[in-house]
Amino acid sequence: MTVRTLPYAGRAAGLVGSVIDSSTALLHRQTHDIVRFAMGSPAAEAVPAEILAGIAAVELSRPDAYDYAATEGDPPLHAALLESLRGTSDETTADRLTITAGGMQGLDLFCKIFVDPGDLVVVESPTYTNGSATALSYGAELLEVPVDVDGLDVDELERLVEATGRLPKAIYTIPTFQNPSGATLSLARRHRLLELARSWGSMVIDDDPYGLLRFEGAQLPTVRELGAGDPLVFAVRTFSKIVAPGLRVGWVDTDPELQPLLINAKQAMDTCTNLPAQRLLTRFLTGGHLDNHLATQRTEYKRRKVAMHEALTRSFGDIARWTDPEGGFFLWVTLENGVDTAALFEVALAEGVAFIPGPAFSPSGRFTDALRLCFASTKPDRIHEGITRLRRAVDLLAK
Ligand code: PMP
Repeated sequence: MTVRTLPYAGRAAGLVGSVIDSSTALLHRQTHDIVRFAMGSPAAEAVPAEILAGIAAVELSRPDAYDYAATEGDPPLHAALLESLRGTSDETTADRLTITAGGMQGLDLFCKIFVDPGDLVVVESPTYTNGSATALSYGAELLEVPVDVDGLDVDELERLVEATGRLPKAIYTIPTFQNPSGATLSLARRHRLLELARSWGSMVIDDDPYGLLRFEGAQLPTVRELGAGDPLVFAVRTFSKIVAPGLRVGWVDTDPELQPLLINAKQAMDTCTNLPAQRLLTRFLTGGHLDNHLATQRTEYKRRKVAMHEALTRSFGDIARWTDPEGGFFLWVTLENGVDTAALFEVALAEGVAFIPGPAFSPSGRFTDALRLCFASTKPDRIHEGITRLRRAVDLLAK
């Protein structure tokens, strides 16, 4: 057999892929019953499919819904989004807004515009795999800074950056109900993060897909709002968690100076974001559905988090600790009995439960004793069943 070696671009080596996304395909291939704590998807019953189908019957029967759209986003969606954000910490203006193909495209656009090979980019540790993978795909060098219950540890951030003797080009933070830890960056730390970024001349990527899904505690101002223009904050937002991920619509909110470049960069990627999906979302917003929908989601996700806590206390009280998020989708569990969670994954899958092993959330493969559980997509009784199965898998592996 001839082995072909293709003339790959240097950057191809940085295309590291996503354990999380690959799990979607892996799980679709399984035929036995699995409690799915792996993916960060909204609950199937939380997707407003009937409302969207009703909107589609009207909006998507018009041929112009299938045309190319403006690269910066369909004007009616801009208007509806601006109106929906009014009075929130994400209130903004049209000249700051670019509609994207989900949050991922926002992250990609940032890196495409700002990250040169060898640039230092700070990421949280643990962090969202696809975010760090995006920076790596543009050749960034990543500096992992620990996260604790109050989010990114800003003292460690200062210490670790100073130890490198270099200035970060950007700091990538997921400030609210962080993926994967569920931690929220405290107000004092939000201010300190911005202060440090300002002093270093670093930009801040404020990736906040879960902020609207707070079910406990007091709302905090977004990093974007607190940044107020200096340092440059690049806010990445998405409809994926609050409406549906398959629509692939999100937005970037940043300095208007960037918009021409964002448009050029996006034109070279996909010309425009899927117009039928934008039309569905426009009517979803102008029809006043979002507020009701969020209220229902918050109530339900709280019930599910409580159920997962109860189940963990019952089954893992002796061998693990876990976080207590005030919103969002995820819990982070740390096992204290020496079990390797990558090995656990195989056993757990056979036992009928799926999660994402900790090392997926660290570019250097830390957190071999940890795992991420999504509580949002599973009903409470199934959560109990899934955690029982997970404990069984731990015991089987430890034998
Ligand atoms: N950022 C974070 C922190 C996320 O958790 C996700 C989705 N898992 C994304 C970005 C990507 O969002 P989207 O699906 O809209 O591309």
